Amino acid sequence: MACVFCKIAAGEIPAKVVASDDSVIAFHDIAPRAPVHVLVVPRKHIASVADAEDADRDVLGRLMLMARRVAQDLGIAERGYRLIVNVREHGGQEVPHLHVHVLGGKPLGPMLARPS
Ligand code: AMP
Ligand code: ZN
Repeated sequence: MACVFCKIAAGEIPAKVVASDDSVIAFHDIAPRAPVHVLVVPRKHIASVADAEDADRDVLGRLMLMARRVAQDLGIAERGYRLIVNVREHGGQEVPHLHVHVLGGKPLGPMLARPS
């Protein structure tokens, strides 16, 4: 198994785990881009949203519910936060295992840099 997030889900490499259940695990990003930066990851290897199937409907819902729980538990829900899911090359996805970024703890600015 070469996939880094599969290894984290299996406990084979360490991560600062925030929460987990039988289908999803949440852990702090190793290079945080905001005061709170957590990744929510399915235990099942799904390369990206573009690779998900109809049968993954349950786990896709669980990712969102876990993101909500993490935001609540880490104290950023009331003021708000951002969820980002990068998909494949143009989306800037670096790790080819589906994940939801939970970012917050400060105003995050515009969603994307404005064209100059
Ligand atoms: P993306 O560009 O959407 O694929 O995001 C991948 C994220 O995974 C980046 O924010 C990385 O900092 C993060 N990352 C990569 N390796 C690890 C790791 N071993 N533990 C925690 N976060 C990681
Ligand atoms: Zn994987």
